[in-house]
Amino acid sequence: MLKLYDIRKDYKMPDYVVHALNGVSINFRKNELVSILGPSGCGKTTLLNIIGGLDQYTSGDIIVGDISTKNYKDRDWDIYRNHYIGFVFQSYNLIPHLNVLQNVEMGLSISGISRSKRRAMAIAALEKVGLGEQLKKKPSQMSGGQCQRVAIARAIVTNPKIILADEPTGALDTETSKQIMDLLQEISDDRLVIMVTHNPQLAQRYSTRIIELLDGGIISDSNPYDGMPTMIEPVKPIQKEETPVVAKKERLVFGIPASEYRKLTLAQQANVRKEFYKERRDARKNKNIEVPTEEKPDTPLVEPETSKYISRITPTAPKLPNAKAPKEKKNRASMSIFTAMILSARNLWTKKFRTGLIAFAGSIGIIGIALVLSLTNGFNIYVENLQTSTLVNMPVTISSMAISIDTSSIIDNFNNTDNMYPDDNEVRPYSIKNAVGIDISVNILSPEYIDYVEALDSKYYNSIRYSYSFRPTLAVKNYRGDISKVNLYGSSAGNYWGELLDKDFMQTQYDVLYGRYPQNYDEIVLVVDAYNNINASTLEMLGYQLSYKDDDSNTYANIPFSEFVYNETTNPRVYTIITNNNRYYTEDVDGKELYLEHKIKDSYEKPGNIPLKIVGVIRQNKNLILPFMPSGLAYTPELAEYYLNNCMQSDVAVAQRANEDWSVLNGNDFASDYSTLVTIMTSYGLSEKSLISTLKTMLNKETLMQYLQGYCTEEQIDQLIADMANEETVNGMMTLISKDLNIAPSILKVFISTMLGSIPELGLSSDAILTILNSGYETALQRLGASMMPSSVYIYPKTFDDKDAVLAYLDAWNDKCDAKGDLILRVKYTDMAGTVSTMLRYIITIVSGILIAFAAISLVVSSIMIAIVTYISVLERTTEIGVLRSLGARKIDIANVFNSETTIIGAISGVLGVIIAWILDFPMNAILHSISNSVPANFAQICWWHGILLVVLSMILNIIAGFVPSIIASKKDPVVALRSTN
Ligand code: ADP
Ligand code: MG
Repeated sequence: MLKLYDIRKDYKMPDYVVHALNGVSINFRKNELVSILGPSGCGKTTLLNIIGGLDQYTSGDIIVGDISTKNYKDRDWDIYRNHYIGFVFQSYNLIPHLNVLQNVEMGLSISGISRSKRRAMAIAALEKVGLGEQLKKKPSQMSGGQCQRVAIARAIVTNPKIILADEPTGALDTETSKQIMDLLQEISDDRLVIMVTHNPQLAQRYSTRIIELLDGGIISDSNPYDGMPTMIEPVKPIQKEETPVVAKKERLVFGIPASEYRKLTLAQQANVRKEFYKERRDARKNKNIEVPTEEKPDTPLVEPETSKYISRITPTAPKLPNAKAPKEKKNRASMSIFTAMILSARNLWTKKFRTGLIAFAGSIGIIGIALVLSLTNGFNIYVENLQTSTLVNMPVTISSMAISIDTSSIIDNFNNTDNMYPDDNEVRPYSIKNAVGIDISVNILSPEYIDYVEALDSKYYNSIRYSYSFRPTLAVKNYRGDISKVNLYGSSAGNYWGELLDKDFMQTQYDVLYGRYPQNYDEIVLVVDAYNNINASTLEMLGYQLSYKDDDSNTYANIPFSEFVYNETTNPRVYTIITNNNRYYTEDVDGKELYLEHKIKDSYEKPGNIPLKIVGVIRQNKNLILPFMPSGLAYTPELAEYYLNNCMQSDVAVAQRANEDWSVLNGNDFASDYSTLVTIMTSYGLSEKSLISTLKTMLNKETLMQYLQGYCTEEQIDQLIADMANEETVNGMMTLISKDLNIAPSILKVFISTMLGSIPELGLSSDAILTILNSGYETALQRLGASMMPSSVYIYPKTFDDKDAVLAYLDAWNDKCDAKGDLILRVKYTDMAGTVSTMLRYIITIVSGILIAFAAISLVVSSIMIAIVTYISVLERTTEIGVLRSLGARKIDIANVFNSETTIIGAISGVLGVIIAWILDFPMNAILHSISNSVPANFAQICWWHGILLVVLSMILNIIAGFVPSIIASKKDPVVALRSTN
């Protein structure tokens, strides 16, 4: 049944070798109770562990049935332990977090036996040891004797052939010891029980055979079994002889030689197989026919063997009645993942509090990510809504004064929300210093550009609307009663003079705080910013006297809205547009008909002026994230139309339109008018002074001589250089050049533009400069309000996607300019809707950036924590690892137990994290909503599949974190693991 041949076991220490067993040979009977006696350290436990397959012998052989274990792989030993061996330990080694029944069931779970069958078998085993009534008790609630009974029940439940008991009564009192011995004696009726003991009396009384060990060798055997070969010799030669014989013989495959089998067709092969198995079945029924077990095909048609652990000692050796080779057993020794899960879940359940804390700590990172996802999710929903509702109504605006908004400075202003949106109906004058992130730049809307815009495919837009340059002379009776000029339309915030966009759109974006929205062309509104601020100097220009507050704060006192809105009796203040015909009169100078400017005072009272009344005060809606109208005055498109029609008819406009050569305002030839160039240069940061000095350096004698050879004499050039020395305006300089060198102004322009075009720092091609220099006529008309060139273009795209197409089209113009080097002809547009989205995206990026950093750190921390906790768990459960291995669990099963543990914690962390994040969304939404009304109250929301994803992520992260400790656990030597408690 079980034979040990010359078993030796050496433990290699760093500088010596311990010979724990020196050639032990024993032949055991099928059923007997063998006691192994011997002093401490003589090798009893080592022997038992080797018999049990927990430890590997250094040399020798163990024959199980008639099969050598020499070629056993790990997997075979696992199966062997699971099916052949039952262990009983001195310290019981029950798994503390499982109850009695579950402990007994463990070995069956590992064999993969079904739940109901498992239960029945376990109960039967427990009844056998007299514990049928205590199934649900935990090991900690039982006495030592009872625990040992449970251990015996666990050992016999799989009905193994061999029970190995290492000092099973070592920790028990005499009376209990006797009971346990009775039990062992009883179970030895039909199986082999090998027991190690220190107690010779017990051994004498109960066992049928006593073997004494000393220093790793047998010194006596009270009842040797005769079938035992004395030495290993009979075994080895047979193996050696057999091998060549087998090699020479043709290998049989399904009863026929392999070479023939290979020649058959697939159908024929199938027939052969059918025949073969039929014969085998018949053979089994008759039992007396030898069954060939070794033959197997080398083709993959038949399942390959998982391991080749079988080597016959002798082909004719009679089989022991009950001995079966492990491979003939149908049951496998493997633990299902489910069993591993249950085992871990039970373990975690016994440490609920600790598990809860760990899961909570682990959930923090998940919470972070969940919050980020819920924000992003909310943001996407929000932007989608915005795009389909509000944003699509916002036009792409191209204006000769493009307003671009610096989103980051708006963000800064978010911090300062305290005094936003005051409701006291008062204007707060302020000195300009914190004009918020609004940058106004100059665009050249050339006729070519307007043509370009017109050529845009009409499928992309609903409409294109134009507005025309409109800068009237505005006068007001100020607080002193004087008539003073109102110089609006400056480029700084607060001096705004702007056109209201479509009424419907405006009313979704701006609130009327006081008075009403304009209904007539002569009605205007006061625009205040979110703080009700208007620049102090603007207010003075609008005719108001500013006073300081009574306290010492040195700030201006507020002015009620009622002092702005027109009222016939209390506030009759009007802003008068002085129309062109009232502003200018005709006079002959130098034979040219010029229209020279009146004093404002003289024109103010004349008929035909347009008096404007402020009828309301408007302020950006709280929902509006980006204001597109700075504080100042805003008028209706109707006023623009009315005024421009008026201008077109004015004498001066008619006269200017009739005269394309020179300005009727100052008599300057357009051909020699360089003022537009100077204006543009100035807006690009190059002052007129530096432009002049650049020109003077370039127009030195040498260059002029070289360029103008033949056109003029050296004396003329000397004269010019002398004259130019004191000239301080560009126009004056050009006039001098024309006069001294006698060059026509139009030719001079070409010369100058070629020259300036060659300075790379200016970023302008000579073509662009020539375009600018030739724009004098158009500029003059614009100044008179008589130009047909629009100053702004509003494109209303059909959808958000169409808007992208429109923007791409506009960008193409700028790219063309870049390619030519004409940076100045670039046209900036304002994409309000895009700016709003960008703005929102900016906020979300900041918020999610912070959260992701937070989440990433906590994920790393929690992963490290999980690794540590799992490692601690491995240390705590060392005995359990040993027991599971002794019950036949594979290494991978052990790893799975710990992987399950981390997976379960990961799942709890994930679920906890998602739930907490879901709860946290409520206060977070409340905060976001209070920061900006434009954020909907249910902004951040977790979507269900993000939740599931996060739980899975948490599980995966935990598995990764626990991977190394799990591997450590699976690699633990079961002998060492069990020894650690003994
Ligand atoms: P017993 O059970 O008879 O008291 P053991 O079988 O436990 O004795 O040990 C036999 C000998 O082998 C002892 O000298 C012991 O120190 C040594 N030994 C056992 N296990 C190991 C091991 N893992 N490494 C080194 N020496 C060991
Ligand atoms: Mg021992």
